[in-house]
Amino acid sequence: MTSYKLLWDDPVCDIEVPERLLSSYEQLEYYHLVGRCVHVPIREGSEEEIMLVHSSEYLEVVKSTQTMNQEELRRVSKNYDAVYFHPNSYRCAKLAVGATLQLVDSVMSGKVLNGMALVRPPGHHSQRNAANGFCVFNNVAIAAQYAKRRYGLQRILIVDWDVHHGQGIQYIFEEDPSVLYYSWHRYEHQKFWPLLRESDYDAVGQGNGKGFNINVPWNKVGMGNSDYLAAFFHVLLPVAFEFAPELILVSSGYDSGIGDPEGEMKATPECFAHLTHFLMQLANGRLCAVLEGGYHLKSLSESVSMTVKTLLGDPLPRISGEMAPCLSSVESIQNVRAAHKPYWKCLMYEGNCCSVCFLQMWLINMRHDAKKNTFFSAVLGFILPVAYSYQPDLTIIVIGPNRSLGINGISLLTRLLQGLAESRSLVVIQVRSEIKLVQSVAKALTGVSTPDFGPYAPASQENVLEIRRLRDQLQQEWKMLQCSGE
Ligand SMILES: [Zn+2]
Repeated sequence: MTSYKLLWDDPVCDIEVPERLLSSYEQLEYYHLVGRCVHVPIREGSEEEIMLVHSSEYLEVVKSTQTMNQEELRRVSKNYDAVYFHPNSYRCAKLAVGATLQLVDSVMSGKVLNGMALVRPPGHHSQRNAANGFCVFNNVAIAAQYAKRRYGLQRILIVDWDVHHGQGIQYIFEEDPSVLYYSWHRYEHQKFWPLLRESDYDAVGQGNGKGFNINVPWNKVGMGNSDYLAAFFHVLLPVAFEFAPELILVSSGYDSGIGDPEGEMKATPECFAHLTHFLMQLANGRLCAVLEGGYHLKSLSESVSMTVKTLLGDPLPRISGEMAPCLSSVESIQNVRAAHKPYWKCLMYEGNCCSVCFLQMWLINMRHDAKKNTFFSAVLGFILPVAYSYQPDLTIIVIGPNRSLGINGISLLTRLLQGLAESRSLVVIQVRSEIKLVQSVAKALTGVSTPDFGPYAPASQENVLEIRRLRDQLQQEWKMLQCSGE
C-alpha cells in the first residue's frame, strides 16, 4: 500500500504520500508497539466484496487504470474531485479493502479483541460510482456491509473522527438504521471542502435511517481536546450507549489533530487515546480502527501510536490544555442535540428549566427504579465532564453499602474514570460478602471488557431535568458541562 504515489504536479493531492504509512509504522516500532500486536496477514478484497458498496461500472473504471499511461491517468483522475490514480492504485485499493476485512474477521472471530488497519488509499469520501478526496474504495463502508452480511450484525457504529466529512459513508447508509454514522468535520458554514449542504447538523438521515446519521460541523478552526471530548460526552456517547452497537468501526483520520495543514485543529495525540478508550467500552470492546486521513507526519504517527497503545490496554496519558470548549463548538453541539432530539431517548427530555437545584435532591432522584436508568445521563452528562474539567491526580471510587448502582454500572463507571489521573484509580468497596462485585470491579481495573448493560432504559424526565439543572448551575465553574449554548 506504499507502492503508489502522485506522478504529476497537483497541489491539492501532493499531501497524500506513501510516507504517511511508513512514518506511522516507524513510530509504532519506536514505542515498541509493533511486537506487542498480533499481526493479521493481509489479502486483496474481492470484486464481490468491493461491489457490496460500489457499482460494477465504477469497479471497471478503477481496474482499467492499471494499464494506463500518465496522460490517461491524469485524464481519468480529472473526472473526480481531489483524486489521483497511479498504475498501482487499483491493487493498493484492493489491499486496503482486504486488510480492513481481515481485521473485521479477526475481531469478530475473537482472534483479537480490537485492532487497527494501517491502510491507504483512505476510503470515507468514495461513493458508489465515484472516487473522491484521495479515496478509491470505501474501506469502512465495505467493512460494515461485510460484517452485516457475514456475521448477521444488526447494529454497527461508525465513528469518523477525520477532519473531513465522510460524505461517502453518509450517502451509502443514510437510509439504513442498522449503521449509525457519526462524523465531526471542519465545516465553516459550508466554506470548507467538500462544501456540501448535507454535511451540516440537520442532515440526520433519510426514511428509516432518520436519526442514524450524526454530523457535528465545526464552524471554526482551532478545535482542541476539550471540544472533541465535549462532543463525545454530550452527543456521541449517550447516543452510542442507547444504540448499543455490536461492532465499532472507526474512520480513523488524524488530520483532525494538531499541526495538520488540512484541519488546522489543535487536538493533541493524547486526545485520540481518550477517544479510543471511551469507544472501547461499547460493543464488548469489539473495535476496528481504519486509517483515513492525516497529513502532518509527526502528528499523524504520534496519534496512531496513541490509538494503538490504548487499544493494547496501556494506561492513558494525561490530557493537556484547559478543559473548556469554545463557544462555537458548544453551539454546534447544541444544534446536533436539538436536531436529534426526536430520535434518541437520551436527548428527548432535555428542555428548558429553571436553574435552581439542590445536589441532595439530585442524589435522591438518582436511585433509579427498575424501568428507568439514570446512569448514562448522570455519568456522561455530569460526572465525566466535571472529572475531566478537574483533571485529578488520583481517582478514588468509594462503593458504600447503600449503593443504588448495579454491578455493571459500577464496573463501567470504573472503566470510564480510568481515562483520568493517568489511569491511577483506587476503588474502595465498603461492602461485605459481595464477591461478584469485587470480581467485576477487578476485571474493570485490569481492562477486561465490561459486561453488557442489556436493553437501554431511559432516565425519567424528572431525573434528566435534575441533571440539566445541576449542569446549568455549575457550568461556569466546570466548563465541560456546557452543551446548551446558553
Ligand atoms: Zn481527512
